[in-house]
Amino acid sequence: MDRRSTLEAARQLASSHLITSCAALAALFVFIPIGQRIVAAMFDQSSTAPIDSQMTVAFLLNIAVILFAWRRSKDLQAALAANEIAQQSAHDNAYIDHVTGLANRRELMRVLSDGALRDKGSTLLLLDLDFFKKVNDLYGHVVGDEVLKHVAKVIRTCAPEGSCCARLGGDEFAVLVPPIDGGLVSESVADIIRSIAEPLTLGTATVHVSASVGISPVEPGMTAEDCLRRSDIAMYSAKRAGRNCRVWFDRQMEQELLARTQLEDEIRNAVEACEFVPFYQPQMDLGTGELTGFEVLARWNSPIKGLLEPSAFMDVAEASGMISELSLSVMVQALTEARDWPGHLKIAVNISPIQFRDPHLAERILKLLTETNFPPSRLEVEITESSFLEDRETALAIVESLKNMGVTISLDDFGTGYASLSQLQSLPFDRIKIDKSFVTSLLSDSQSDAIVSTILSLGRALHLPITAEGIEDAGTKARLSQLGCSDGQGWLFGKAVSGSTVRASLGIPDGASNTEPVEAPETPANERRDRKRRASGGRR
Ligand code: C2E
Ligand code: MG
Ligand code: MG
Repeated sequence: MDRRSTLEAARQLASSHLITSCAALAALFVFIPIGQRIVAAMFDQSSTAPIDSQMTVAFLLNIAVILFAWRRSKDLQAALAANEIAQQSAHDNAYIDHVTGLANRRELMRVLSDGALRDKGSTLLLLDLDFFKKVNDLYGHVVGDEVLKHVAKVIRTCAPEGSCCARLGGDEFAVLVPPIDGGLVSESVADIIRSIAEPLTLGTATVHVSASVGISPVEPGMTAEDCLRRSDIAMYSAKRAGRNCRVWFDRQMEQELLARTQLEDEIRNAVEACEFVPFYQPQMDLGTGELTGFEVLARWNSPIKGLLEPSAFMDVAEASGMISELSLSVMVQALTEARDWPGHLKIAVNISPIQFRDPHLAERILKLLTETNFPPSRLEVEITESSFLEDRETALAIVESLKNMGVTISLDDFGTGYASLSQLQSLPFDRIKIDKSFVTSLLSDSQSDAIVSTILSLGRALHLPITAEGIEDAGTKARLSQLGCSDGQGWLFGKAVSGSTVRASLGIPDGASNTEPVEAPETPANERRDRKRRASGGRR
């Protein structure tokens, strides 16, 4: 029964109760005088006349009415009590989260909409668990629910007295803290974060979760939605700051979010308009000094902003999930362009960890290779260690499929991520690339020198060739050769340049063998563009 129907039932019961009570009262009024007369007639010795039979019937009927009303009143009282219980449970259904017993989103919004409370200066915390999906995937939803219950308990225990604690859905929680000193709010949040980050043993599983918290003061005049949005912005800022931390909202965040949303739209349009193009940076054999191939690096050739490097768009493209379309669109252009370059030159493309969420990634790459007629053995895919963090099984399956096609895999930016040595041994890499941060400081920092020589020994032990990226001068190159590094890449050999510049440097005349038009292979962006063209009657 929902809340509205229980309230309606309660109204009906109450009016029945009133009518019954009135009837009983009326019967009592009649009962008293008739009763008096009958009793007087029964005890009147002087009278020999029989008691009036009509009065006796009226008297008995009166008793029946009173008994009936009493009985009915008892029934109605029981029904009212049952209805009260039903009302409570309907309220619980509507306003309480069943997994955790906390208030739900509706209840929080109701409380937040209370103007009096807002105007007093409360604080709203928004808390999102980090990597909770991994807990569900690894241990199942039963353990997932236990984690949510545990988090709810922590929040209830650590939240300041009088707070309204709610679960908004999924792994998102909120706490509306009554007006207290900001320092105390921070302390409570620190307690919550610390307690949630402690390992939790559930049966045989030891689960690790953490929480990112956004904090925003509730200001007079704000709507409930405004309050939630501000805390949400602060919470995302906490996620970006590395998770497992708290961030207070400030107005600049709102501006940044707006700019980010705009950039997202621009990137989406630019992918559709094929404004992301491949640039190529030479990769060299340090021993022979010969060119071995190129790393493909995306550039945004924007008609408005000019030529932009990945630092201007990569973060937003990754966060918004557009990186897959962007990378595949750059890749297909590179494969088409480099198809007729000398056969010994390899092409290395970058694949972001986000792209590994797509279980069909290997098939998509195979499709591009087939459609562009590019030999898989000439393709190297550069991935970073974090690709294996989120869903190791899927990432491994993708890498295995790529290797089965004949594509080689290199581990990019080695030394900056989380890879343990045992992981390095168990993952099927064909090459390691030392991150440029160690290489650029090789001559000036003895620690970098030590790290680079350790990575090189590791490569030798695992029989993996090593490329050093970020070689900017001859001295660094000489030191790397001395340490036994086989391959290198960096400004010393050349910055990333356009396909036509590469062609010219390779001595391939413009319009030579690569003139045959290659039909644009189907990336999701191409498909959408084609659909648009078809819809507009094929106009370009
Ligand atoms: P990365 O794969 O580590 O690429 C090497 C970066 O180092 C490139 O930056 C390159 O221009 C820069 N670099 C090369 N030589 C030197 C040098 O001697 N000194 C210095 N200081 N830097 C050097 P870029 O082009 O800005 O690319 C940045 C990152 O963006 C790349 O790092 C890669 O992770 C990512 N990226 C680029 N294109 C794509 C793409 O199409 N898809 C994906 N998923 N990621 C891409
Ligand atoms: Mg790379
Ligand atoms: Mg790199």
